[in-house]
Amino acid sequence: MTTIGSGAALALVLALAGGLFAKRALLLYRIVRQGKPTARGGDVPRRLRAEATVVVGQRKLLQRLIPGLVHAFIFWGFVVLFPTIVLAFLGAIDGDLTLPWLGHQGWFFLLVDVFCVLVLVGVTAAFLIRKVQRPARFEGSHLGEADLILGLIALIVTTLLCWHGSRIALGSNEWPEAWSPVSNAIGSLMEPGPWLEVRERIFVWAHVLTILGFLVYLPRSKHLHIATAAINVWFARTRARGRLEPIDFEPEDEADLRLGAGTVGDLTWKQMIDTMSCTECGRCQDVCPAWATGKALSPKLLIMDLRDRLFAEGPGLLRGEEGSPLVPGAVTDEVVWDCVTCGACVHECPVSIEHVDHIVDLRRQLVMVDARFPTEASTMLRDVERASNPWGKPQVERASWAEGLDVRVLQTGDPPPEILYWVGCAASFDERARATARATASLLLAAGLDVAILGPREGCTGDPSRRMGDEYTFQAQARTNVATLDESGVTKIVTSCPHCFNTVGNEYPDFGGSYEVVHHTELLAELVREGRLEPVAGAEQITYHDSCYLARHNDVLVAPRELVSRIGRPLEMARSGKRTFCCGAGGAHMWMEERGSAINEERAREAAATGAGTLAVACPFCTMMLDDGVKQTGSDLRVADVAVLLAEALDRPASAG
Ligand code: SF4
Ligand code: SF4
Repeated sequence: MTTIGSGAALALVLALAGGLFAKRALLLYRIVRQGKPTARGGDVPRRLRAEATVVVGQRKLLQRLIPGLVHAFIFWGFVVLFPTIVLAFLGAIDGDLTLPWLGHQGWFFLLVDVFCVLVLVGVTAAFLIRKVQRPARFEGSHLGEADLILGLIALIVTTLLCWHGSRIALGSNEWPEAWSPVSNAIGSLMEPGPWLEVRERIFVWAHVLTILGFLVYLPRSKHLHIATAAINVWFARTRARGRLEPIDFEPEDEADLRLGAGTVGDLTWKQMIDTMSCTECGRCQDVCPAWATGKALSPKLLIMDLRDRLFAEGPGLLRGEEGSPLVPGAVTDEVVWDCVTCGACVHECPVSIEHVDHIVDLRRQLVMVDARFPTEASTMLRDVERASNPWGKPQVERASWAEGLDVRVLQTGDPPPEILYWVGCAASFDERARATARATASLLLAAGLDVAILGPREGCTGDPSRRMGDEYTFQAQARTNVATLDESGVTKIVTSCPHCFNTVGNEYPDFGGSYEVVHHTELLAELVREGRLEPVAGAEQITYHDSCYLARHNDVLVAPRELVSRIGRPLEMARSGKRTFCCGAGGAHMWMEERGSAINEERAREAAATGAGTLAVACPFCTMMLDDGVKQTGSDLRVADVAVLLAEALDRPASAG
């Protein structure tokens, strides 16, 4: 074919493939433009860092070394090989055409050879993982589609190597062939003769057509994530991962009132890009405590189901049609209620999908619009609203735990304390959790801090209502509490409950409440460091359970461990730190019946497997759940809050250490 003929042919296939790609891309873009607003601007340095580490550095994927390297080889390979697409287009027009400068650089063609091999190694390993190892995380993923994609990738790099090899065999390479050991070796297998030129044409056109085929297929497949992942990572939350976005109940335009997600038309644009970014890798499913204990919820399948619904109803959305209900149409009620909002899925997801926001939005719609939720939780919702605590106890009993302790109960008009101890409902009313409150208050007083509590003026933060989807009650609680704290002149707060810690610290600023909030383990560790508390270490082996709302949502990992190592001999569980496993109480599950096997029992068994005698916790809900779990599994582990253990270590005779 002449140069003009080849150029015309290339222009034709480029126009066809580009047109099909653009048509689909435009449709997806228009659908995303229909998404509801969400504030994701600013914080550019953090967003750049996320792009550098999560996208370029493949940080999350490399948490699992082998599959991480497999993906990294393919991803980095495609970045390095990108200019070869232009070279191939030029080469398809005319074998003598190449890019100025780059087309002559030996080092570049060495990189191409190296990364072609790495991509092939990656593709082979990925194929073996899928076909031989068959990890459970792929259950429910589109495996046939993944095979096709892997095959296309292998074809792209193989045809590239063969094209380069045939050019070397023909002697038409513009770069020194010594830099291309792999292509050179392939070229040496090709016999010289009249067919060599034909073969060179076949390879370059096969390469070009495979790339264009990939381009057309890409936005119609799960590999759409190649185009959307970097965008999704850019717009992900940059801080306060435990914060939920508040609902504006009084928007200027009533049409903007959005009570969670009832149809695809209610999804925010970030949620829409979330669904388009899922790679179906199953990392979220693998760490999900609900899935691990046989419940209906898989965060992966949830996102895939929402994506399928968005693609099915997106075009209708553009025509102004109402979508059909997401629950139970796309997602069952069980799936929505199984979540403990632990955030393990979000932490693990390599493309920064925010599953918890999706789930809470679905709950908001069910609770506030459809009035449909697990009946056993209705008492809790009513009690928070009516009695300002989910136990429904009289508020006058809120400070009963402090009887006999010299803790100041802050009255209206009193001078503000140096630090306010926000006790939380669990430690105020539950007998087991009250030990935490008593130990914490005693330790703070022993260290000489000016500490006070609000007593009956402290209300439920609203966290369980909010995680259930009852945003209205949450906001009422938040406003009341912020008003109380502000009128009391509070500036610094210590909490024992990671849920209060998260809500007061990360969510109350949305309602005008800005305070310095620390967790009791952080404050106690500081007091020990300063020598204001002097524990005596014992010989007891202690395993520490990270609360999701402390470790994963709020990065408090070091202080509790610092304390444990001053109290006894620490032993880590298999799942710890930011990759901790939930106790089963989050997302208002403290008040819901559990289907499948029990999450707290699974965690209790894991703790017992360490051989420790004590299971240390830093959350009143974890105390209750794991204490139950230990009893149910017949273990003799003692469950105690770090504050309780620290108080005991202060009383221990020095010789005991
Ligand atoms: S937040 Fe936890 S329970 Fe909910 S889907 Fe994610 S991993 Fe599963
Ligand atoms: S949501 Fe994220 S972690 Fe889960 S399958 Fe999709 S890409 Fe993987």
